[in-house]
Amino acid sequence: MRGKITALYRSRLAAERGFIKKDWGGKRLTVALAYPNTYAVGMSSLGFQVVYGLFNQRPDVVAERVFLPEGQEMSLYLQSGEPLLSLESQRPVHDFDILAFSVSFENDYPNILKILDLSGIAFQSQEREAKDPFVMGGGITAFLNPEPIAPFFDFFLLGEAEANLSQFIDYFIDINHWKRARDECLKDLASGINSLYVPSLYRQEYNRDGTIRVLEPRFQDLSEKIAAPIFQTSGTEVPCSTILTPDTQFNDRVLVELGRGCGHACRFCAAGYVYRPPRTYAEGAIRSQVKKALDSGSPVGLLSAAVSDIPGIEKITREIIETGGHFSVSSLRAETVTPGMLEDLRKSGQRTIAIAPEAGTERLRRVINKHLSEDQILEAVRLISTVFPFNLRLYFLVGLPTETREDIAGIPALVKRIKHSMVKTSAKRGRIGQIRLSVNCFIPKPFTPFQWFPLEEVEGLKEKQRWLKKALLKEGGIQVHFDLPKWAYVQTLLSNGDRRVSSMILGAHGSKGNWKKAFQLSTMNPDFFVYRARDLDEVLPWDFIEHGLLKKHLAREYSLALKEHESEGCRVGDCRRCGIC
Ligand code: SF4
Repeated sequence: MRGKITALYRSRLAAERGFIKKDWGGKRLTVALAYPNTYAVGMSSLGFQVVYGLFNQRPDVVAERVFLPEGQEMSLYLQSGEPLLSLESQRPVHDFDILAFSVSFENDYPNILKILDLSGIAFQSQEREAKDPFVMGGGITAFLNPEPIAPFFDFFLLGEAEANLSQFIDYFIDINHWKRARDECLKDLASGINSLYVPSLYRQEYNRDGTIRVLEPRFQDLSEKIAAPIFQTSGTEVPCSTILTPDTQFNDRVLVELGRGCGHACRFCAAGYVYRPPRTYAEGAIRSQVKKALDSGSPVGLLSAAVSDIPGIEKITREIIETGGHFSVSSLRAETVTPGMLEDLRKSGQRTIAIAPEAGTERLRRVINKHLSEDQILEAVRLISTVFPFNLRLYFLVGLPTETREDIAGIPALVKRIKHSMVKTSAKRGRIGQIRLSVNCFIPKPFTPFQWFPLEEVEGLKEKQRWLKKALLKEGGIQVHFDLPKWAYVQTLLSNGDRRVSSMILGAHGSKGNWKKAFQLSTMNPDFFVYRARDLDEVLPWDFIEHGLLKKHLAREYSLALKEHESEGCRVGDCRRCGIC
């Protein structure tokens, strides 16, 4: 059986370009870098690839990738009982010094347990022994709120990996972990690195009503706050994917990050807050990175929270087209899209343009601080349809704070006007693009002004979805995709819970993903974390993380939202409002 698994991994490697396979000799630190989802999903994550590159650029580290097996691969593991193997050298995960998870999505938490299970590593940090690898966590979920998965990790490294991974490696190598007791090493790491969080060294106490009374260190020399540093970029080093494989959703495309963070300050968006201040890379540096990708014969995927906001973007896309290359973009802001860029997208073969009104009415867009008027949306649609009969993908949220019947009714009304504009603009051409709607449930996220709001009840969300489905059906020719409210419930629990939620995740793992059963077995009602509005002065599970973002700024934005007032986005250079700059 093991032979079949290694053969599968070798054929996967044979299809890749750019992977790194190092010799294990010379006392190198060995790291199994795990993405808690399948190979195709993990390899589509630029963040995962960047961390792989950062580990391996160190001559004293060997980092190999690990993914959640799927299909036939999973059957081979389950039938044989073989331990989970790394991709590059096909060694058991438990032979590595560190098992490092890069976690981008809360929904992947149950997969962390599957990977530990397949690797033969105990779920709980306190049950692990000297022979086990240290289980480390990183990625955006770790610096939003690691508490629901805290007991499964020996430590988390918070913040952007470019800011502290190398310092961590130096420190970890220096503590001589193979010669010392595990507890001692963890204490040493926690007191030596200000962005390293060891959950077992912190205890949570609760009030009688179940809210957190305190989360505090067990020892005096540990800090109450853990820093989540950001990468102070000079703008000249542009992150891009280094491994190409045909087996991802991007299909051999080189992903190039144009900037990090977003200055528009939408109140529901965690990435817009924890990646502050917004940063863009130097135009010249982006162009040379793009050129390198094109010279290797690959198309490029341009990534940013809003690609159309990037200074000089038209020059970059023009150059790609003029040199015969192809590109795609992650997302555009409706109000900054230009005819030149749309023309380049058309020439590049892109047939769908995505824009995100998020809400159906001007009022609700003010509440969420979207800074997007209906006129701007309709003007963008007119521009898009003038250039080419692109298909339009429109993103909306339901269950937003303060949402009313009128706001929900505003969605089909806006879609109707968008369709009308497309028909009018494309009339002479005799061909119009399709409209596809993605309607997702609003999920309150840590470190946003909406962190104090609950999820709308599942029944209410379902009812709104049914109403929208009917209303949009009347419009005709519009495809709609709704996410499932029951999964929004689970995601809210995993995003906003504290470490008591870990037993529910264990329950779900034990009952093969049956959350209903896990909730029945739990002594705590998950509604407490999902449906309860939090007081502004409540201790939140993630309050110990120090991004530099002032809680009073978030509270101010929260009250502005209730008053339906917008606030300005970032003005990096002459603004001190949120505490980051
Ligand atoms: S201080 Fe101002 S410019 Fe800096 S991140 Fe905060 S809001 Fe943006």
